[in-house]
Amino acid sequence: MQGWMRKGLRFFEEFTRLCHGLEPWHNLFLNFYIMRKPTDLCLLCCNQPALKTNSHIIPKFLSVGFLGPKQARRGYDLSTERDNHRVIQDSPKENYIFCEDCEKYFEVLETSCAEVFKKWPEKLEDGQYEGIELAEGMKVVKFTNALHEIFRLLIYSLFWRTHISSDDLFNHFDLGGGFSENLRLELMYYNSQVKENLKAKILEKKVEDFPFAIFTASEFIDETNNFLYASDNKKPFAMVIDKFAFVLYQDRGDIVPREFSVICNLSSDNTQMVVFTKEQWHKIVLQGMLKLFIEVKKVKH
Ligand SMILES: [Zn+2]
Repeated sequence: MQGWMRKGLRFFEEFTRLCHGLEPWHNLFLNFYIMRKPTDLCLLCCNQPALKTNSHIIPKFLSVGFLGPKQARRGYDLSTERDNHRVIQDSPKENYIFCEDCEKYFEVLETSCAEVFKKWPEKLEDGQYEGIELAEGMKVVKFTNALHEIFRLLIYSLFWRTHISSDDLFNHFDLGGGFSENLRLELMYYNSQVKENLKAKILEKKVEDFPFAIFTASEFIDETNNFLYASDNKKPFAMVIDKFAFVLYQDRGDIVPREFSVICNLSSDNTQMVVFTKEQWHKIVLQGMLKLFIEVKKVKH
């Protein structure tokens, strides 16, 4: 081997070692390749340039409560990829992932559904939503007059946006190539810049049913003691976004135990959400997710 070639190889080996040994360098190296540019195509339509900056991965109305009062927002993200936790003041945002039209479409989905998340307690109270008591204070709330198909699309968009995100917090989250493409195509079919067009498209074709479930609590022990977390699990795909937890299944057959189907949204005929007591939320969701998080972290390190 010629001298210059050996030197070049040694330099390359040294550089690779440095990139892998030191995490900041490693990230810098990777970011150089994955950093998106305004000339890249939108990840949803794959057709127009992804010009939008500061696209929220998860809707702001769902994700900023845990950061505390507006003037002093401060929260921590939990990443199984890192030892330290970032202090965050806003939910994750990314540049150049969507075009203007697709960003607008997500906005239509969000504004159509925001009220359900923000006002379900009032609507339950005044009889607009139906509440069914389960066991030990746990109940199911049925969003009887909500736009079920739009709601379903919003849930798909939450999981799909988390899948495509390259933010540290979510980049381990993987729906798998086939399922993520199914969700993208399903979302794309209904792509509309105004709600009326979206409704018309829904009348043309029924939204494909992938079972999902939503959880929240009637009260929280500490309103700011929640977090953002997307699990590495695949059956079901799961995430906690502040005061709500979401699970999504690819197939009805994946629902285990079978009895769990009762609280899932199997089709677009209705939408329901499980409401825990504050103690159940703390024990089942917060402690359960933290336990899972620590286990995944142990395997990774
Ligand atoms: Zn687009």
